[in-house]
Amino acid sequence: MVECPLCDSPLGVEEDELDEGDTLVCEECGANIRVVSVDPLELEEVEEDYEDEDEEYEEDEDDPWRGSRRY
Ligand SMILES: [Zn+2]
Repeated sequence: MVECPLCDSPLGVEEDELDEGDTLVCEECGANIRVVSVDPLELEEVEEDYEDEDEEYEEDEDDPWRGSRRY
């Protein structure tokens, strides 16, 4: 059984079901997991917030609460 690299919960798939480049979602912690390599098995978390890899931007510019948060 393959386990989540972040919380060690079983991901519900077997190692031989995976292909390189597959993505999984951990039901336990909600992490997006990508299969980097299958031999040896190597998983990494995919950061959803950064879909555009070519461009770096500050998180502040994406803050939906900016200007509307009450203190
Ligand atoms: Zn997890």
